[in-house]
Amino acid sequence: MPVTSKSPTRRSLLAGAAAGSAALALPGGVRGAAPPARRIGFAIVGIGKLSQKQLIPALRTTKIARLTALVSGHADKAKRVAAENGVPERNIYSYETFDRIADNPDVDVVYIVLPNSMHAEYTIRAARAGKHVYCEKPMAVTPAECEQMIAAAKKAGRQLGVGYRLHFEPYNLELIRIARARELGALKFIAATAGTIPDPGQWRLDKKLAGGGSMVDIGIYALQAVRYVAGEEPVSVSARLGITDRATFKDIDETLAFSMTFPSGVVASCVSTYASHVSRIDVAADGGHFGLEPQLYYHGIKGFRSDGKPFAFPDMDQFAAEMDDFAACVRDGKPTRVPGEEGLRDVRIIDALYRSAATGRDIKLA
Ligand code: NAD
Repeated sequence: MPVTSKSPTRRSLLAGAAAGSAALALPGGVRGAAPPARRIGFAIVGIGKLSQKQLIPALRTTKIARLTALVSGHADKAKRVAAENGVPERNIYSYETFDRIADNPDVDVVYIVLPNSMHAEYTIRAARAGKHVYCEKPMAVTPAECEQMIAAAKKAGRQLGVGYRLHFEPYNLELIRIARARELGALKFIAATAGTIPDPGQWRLDKKLAGGGSMVDIGIYALQAVRYVAGEEPVSVSARLGITDRATFKDIDETLAFSMTFPSGVVASCVSTYASHVSRIDVAADGGHFGLEPQLYYHGIKGFRSDGKPFAFPDMDQFAAEMDDFAACVRDGKPTRVPGEEGLRDVRIIDALYRSAATGRDIKLA
């Protein structure tokens, strides 16, 4: 599969989400700002890179969601970020005092932005505190954890959403539309690559905290994209592990090459990697082909279709869009398009992919 994107740094790829906050024009999109008192209050748990560079800046532009609380293990950082964003000091929590958020009427939604292996614990605690929960991807590190999270939200009568921002991104939505409308004919096969290079020494390289390697972090975008373009669930998967840097990737996947077979006969061939900045999806149909490159970046996504018809949209802020949509779901009592059940499906498939890589066998999915 040709990958023609240049190789920008992770920082340059992901930078500047706050720069593009064009008005939403998506199905179910949000127009017109609600007055502050009627907005849905978000508590951000974990003030790391994603929170500081994307989510908190996006919450300055959202129309229904607003930042009302912070949860952090670093009091100084939390105080600084709170002061910069108009969050009162009484709404700062540590991981120890987190459960007291139950008594805080300013908080409607708790957004979990922690290392992957902490998602389940904090989602369940937030649900027990009576809050709606939005949880970053991957939803958790095992299917059993995902099931417990779904059960906790259900028991509390609260919504649980997973941070699949591309469900709110116009190029990816157009990809789905072209596929469903069969504009270029019936689907035949899909090829997807997703890769990034993790910073050295961070939790992403520690299996206990990350739950896996490139697949759980970035390959999940290729898996998601193939599933939402195919519009059906795989019946069998197979995966092979690639490790060239054994010092760094002792017990997690550097590269995972995987394939999936769908009930219609469509097949997908995918690569997830921590060795390169790659992001592309190609969809072949019987009347032509179409796709995206890059497919998953915060900005600069490009579409192509073999019939030359236009495939271009204005820049927008995916994070503002997803948070406003979840806020609207909470406010209006309508289900999110990215529920916990969707996160569970991916984690189940990733679990099967790792089993296939470990055994060298195809894995059939029920
Ligand atoms: P990060 O390392 O920058 O931030 C993690 C935060 O968790 C930090 O504030 C850190 O202090 C805190 N933390 C608490 N306990 C910790 C521990 N034991 N070890 C390490 N950190 C601990 O990570 P990030 O890039 O912000 O990622 C956070 C989550 O967001 C991950 O689940 C990741 O997959 C997800 N993410 C999603 C996207 C997206 O596009 N949707 C992009 C980046 C990250």
